[in-house]
Amino acid sequence: MKTVALTIDGKKVTARAGEKLLWVALENGIYIPNLCAIRDKPEPNASCRLCFVEIEGWKKPVTACTVEVTEGMAVNTRGVKALALVRAGFELIMASHALDCAHCPANGACELQKIARHLKASLKTKRLRLLLRELPVDDSNPLFTYDPNKCVLCGRCVWACRQDIKSGVLGFAHRGFERALTTFADEPIGRDRCLECSVCVEACPTGALSLKDGKKPSGDGA
Ligand code: SF4
Ligand code: SF4
Repeated sequence: MKTVALTIDGKKVTARAGEKLLWVALENGIYIPNLCAIRDKPEPNASCRLCFVEIEGWKKPVTACTVEVTEGMAVNTRGVKALALVRAGFELIMASHALDCAHCPANGACELQKIARHLKASLKTKRLRLLLRELPVDDSNPLFTYDPNKCVLCGRCVWACRQDIKSGVLGFAHRGFERALTTFADEPIGRDRCLECSVCVEACPTGALSLKDGKKPSGDGA
């Protein structure tokens, strides 16, 4: 196995050649915000646009989930240009998020709260107009609840359902602002072929999927 040496925020690290920068940083204790990254998925979704970093000699910030580490790479996760993109992306996500942490099962274990802390940003969007979808909560599953108003469309639950248990109950429908997590034929989750294994709940980084016993298992924390 070929390894490469690089620096991330001045810290010297080694990694397997070809490994994606996001995972190298996270596995070396350097947090880079992310929502849609899935460790076992060979091709990154690259849809949440939160993992921008700067690389010495590169003109523009790049998403760490798509870039492979190379020998001598010097990465700055705190560059002004990269952080401006991350903040803008985060604010866009929060502009359509039904924020109510005090009553949310994910409170304290939520990736959005972690990202806000990391960015020293507010969860409440200040510059953008709040545009809430006000969709009905799906309470049809005996084990868990799905609140689409807290969904960030990261796709982790879809992957978990398909990969971990080869079920494929969950998927996305529609485009743009209407895009939503749904089931085949748009049936409530409880009325589809759900095996009630709750891998989707474990994968969810927010309070969109939560167990009915009130507990939110901590996500994969990627
Ligand atoms: S999903 Fe996270 S940010 Fe949203 S209300 Fe719940 S705890 Fe707060
Ligand atoms: S329900 Fe959770 S895991 Fe699934 S897409 Fe929405 S935020 Fe991601």
